[in-house]
Amino acid sequence: MTEAVENVDILIVGAGPVGMTLHLALAAGGQQSLLVDRRPPAALQADPRALALSHGARELLEQLGGWPTRAATPIETIHVSQKGGFGRTLIDRSDYKLPALGYVVRYRDLAAALAARLADDARLTEAEIIDITADSDGATVALRHAGKLRRIRCRLLVHAEGTPGDEAGVTVSDYVQHAVICEVTPTPGNARRAWERFTPDGPLALLPLGDEYSIVFTLPPAKADAVMALDDDAFVAALSAQFGRSMRFAKPGKRSRFPLALRLRDQLHRGREVWIGNTAQTLHPVSGQGFNLGLRDAWQLADQLLKDGVAGIDLAAYAASRRLDREGGAFFTDKVVKAFSNDCAPLRLARGLGLLALDVFPPARHFVAKRMIWGARAWP
Ligand SMILES: Cc1cc2nc3c(=O)[nH]c(=O)nc-3n(C[C@H](O)[C@H](O)[C@H](O)COP(=O)(O)OP(=O)(O)OC[C@H]3O[C@@H](n4cnc5c(N)ncnc54)[C@H](O)[C@@H]3O)c2cc1C
Repeated sequence: MTEAVENVDILIVGAGPVGMTLHLALAAGGQQSLLVDRRPPAALQADPRALALSHGARELLEQLGGWPTRAATPIETIHVSQKGGFGRTLIDRSDYKLPALGYVVRYRDLAAALAARLADDARLTEAEIIDITADSDGATVALRHAGKLRRIRCRLLVHAEGTPGDEAGVTVSDYVQHAVICEVTPTPGNARRAWERFTPDGPLALLPLGDEYSIVFTLPPAKADAVMALDDDAFVAALSAQFGRSMRFAKPGKRSRFPLALRLRDQLHRGREVWIGNTAQTLHPVSGQGFNLGLRDAWQLADQLLKDGVAGIDLAAYAASRRLDREGGAFFTDKVVKAFSNDCAPLRLARGLGLLALDVFPPARHFVAKRMIWGARAWP
């Protein structure tokens, strides 16, 4: 027996933070959409990441009622330096007349704040997509949900499935680095200061999160294996050695790891399908750009859909509108990781001079700071 076809205007595959943001931004403008995710909602609550979000991201999420106010820790200063070399830059919120340069939130708290805004029938979870048939008017998606086979016809199919694998149409550049993440308690307290410390192994970030620091400890894979296997005391010693400054760490939480690669989808749209968030671009976590960028994808796509309608939207124009932001973010993070993750003496000197120049030459520092605060809106 052939199952009935259900109709929706917009089907969003992937109910992570980016998919949910798109759904809520569309709903705010009166446009319905359906979210589909293969995992249960509880899976989002198990994600160990903490995310540094820009001031601009906060403004967008607040408009949707999806800003986790009490779970967000403001970043008041950012200290950037390199291990084993001179030069440092300090970015201070007081230069920008803002309450904070950015905020740190746990992925799970952000996901919970967004999910709390969803209507009961907004998403199908634990849904397995079996087939997608795309044509010039839309797509038909066959999926299994709660033991039943369903066929959903949509006029626009949005992909928000997160980081893609090694698949056709995605250009991959492996950093041969893994991020080991966990939370630690610092002494003295974090003073709402974020640290970005470049080391030959890769960047080390300390992000203030409540009374803790959320650590992103980037290392070559073999060293990451070793660090994952350390007991807590030895881990704290390894972290202190990498940080190289007078701060004590205690009570490290559970460690997790993520392999890091730049993954750029060559085409953001095909027919009536469009890709946003990490499935469109997955960046190195240095300087915390990934979700900020995905949020702006969702915002821009919603804006264009609300203006032009589902039938009228020009997906090529949407893709063109995202080009500067995504390519700028990918270029910036890629170049920073490659220029800083080595022990080459001339490069160390150049990096030191660069950090010094940023510190003593306010327009250069403001350029970098505004990129972090506003994203593409800061580009000339
Ligand atoms: C260590 C680390 C630190 C980071 N730090 C920062 C930071 O400080 N700031 C920042 O902005 N970004 C940061 N990021 C990046 C950020 O985590 C991502 O950009 C963000 O999570 C992307 O959201 P998303 O919704 O696109 O994808 P995801 O969060 O991966 O969600 C994708 C969803 O799609 C679902 N899905 C996948 N496949 C299917 C399918 N076939 N069918 C149905 N559903 C599917 C998944 O179950 C999931 O729920 C960091 C990343 C890492 C690894």
